[in-house]
Amino acid sequence: LFVTFEGGEGAGKSTQIRRLADRLRRAGHDVLVTREPGGSPGAEAVRHVLLSGAAEEFGVRMEAMLFAAARNDHVEEVIRPALESGAIVLCDRFIDSSRVYQGVTGNLETDFIEALQRVAIDRVVPDCTLILDLPAETGLGRARRRAADAAPDRFEREEIETHEKRREAYLEIAEAEPQRCRVVNAERAEDEIADEVYAIIEPLINR
Ligand code: C5P
Repeated sequence: LFVTFEGGEGAGKSTQIRRLADRLRRAGHDVLVTREPGGSPGAEAVRHVLLSGAAEEFGVRMEAMLFAAARNDHVEEVIRPALESGAIVLCDRFIDSSRVYQGVTGNLETDFIEALQRVAIDRVVPDCTLILDLPAETGLGRARRRAADAAPDRFEREEIETHEKRREAYLEIAEAEPQRCRVVNAERAEDEIADEVYAIIEPLINR
C-alpha cells in the first residue's frame, strides 16, 4: 500500500505520518516512512542542492527536472522495492507537490510536468493521497514558529498569496481524482486528525 501526504507548509504532514506509522506498526504492519525531495542517498543529495541558495540561479524547468530526477531515484531505490516486499509506504510529498509547486506556482505547463512525472514514477502511483488542508496563514504561522531558531529555507519566504494558490491547487487535484485523494481538515487538534487519517488508511490495507 502506497500512501502519500500532501499540503502546504506547516500542515502537519510529518507529525501525522509519524503518528500513522506508529499506529500501523503497533498493529503489526511493516511500515516504511520516507520523504521528498529526498528519501534515497542520491535524492537527498539533490534535495540539498534544491533547498540551498544555489538553486536560486536555476531556471524553473531545470528545477522541475531535478525534482523529477530525485523522485525517480527515490522510486527505484526505495519505494518500489519496499512495496514489492509488502511494506506499507508512507511518503511525505510526491507527484502532487510537483504539480502544485512547480506546475501551478512555478507557472510550468501541465504537459511538461505530467511528462516528467510519467518518467519519474514509471507507474508507481499512490493508492491513496491525503491532502492536509488548512488556511495558508495558519500553516505559515506554524512553519515560522518551527523555524524561529533556524534560517527559513527559500520556499518558506514566499508571499501568502502563493501559499493560498497552492492550497486551491491541491483542492482542485482532490476534486479531479476523488478515487485517489482525500482532503483532511488539518486545522483541528492533532489527535482528531490522527484518528481520521487512521480511519481512512486502515480499511485500505490488504484490500
Ligand atoms: O515538505 P518540506 O517542507 O520538507 O519540503 C521542503 C520544501 O521544498 C518545501 O518548503 C516546499 O516548498 C519545497 N518543494 C517544492 N517542490 C516539490 C517539493 C517540495 O518546491 N515538488
